[in-house]
Amino acid sequence: MTYIIAEPCIDIKDLSCVDVCPVDCIHVFERILIIDPEECIDCGACEPECPVEAIFPEDALPDKWNAFVEINYAFPDAAKINPLVDKYAEENDVHNEPLE
Ligand code: SF4
Ligand code: SF4
Repeated sequence: MTYIIAEPCIDIKDLSCVDVCPVDCIHVFERILIIDPEECIDCGACEPECPVEAIFPEDALPDKWNAFVEINYAFPDAAKINPLVDKYAEENDVHNEPLE
């Protein structure tokens, strides 16, 4: 299994999760962070650190964010990930407010 980062991270990217990951498997892409599904050890340390609750164990990801399974497993291919995130954001009218 892996942990998955979903819609609330788009354009927020505050990086709190990166600091706590013991295996450094959370990586920055254009509009979102992505967890390397091969390297993630399912420790759960990142989940409570996210201020916008964007991180879930794969088997607990809300159905409305299923698109992020494909996006996450496209790691590390930025040429796939970045357009998939753009497409998702456009289709779902994502406008996440910047953190204060
Ligand atoms: S669950 Fe653990 S290993 Fe996986 S991304 Fe989060 S902090 Fe890193
Ligand atoms: S802590 Fe949450 S919003 Fe911040 S980069 Fe990680 S997943 Fe994205």
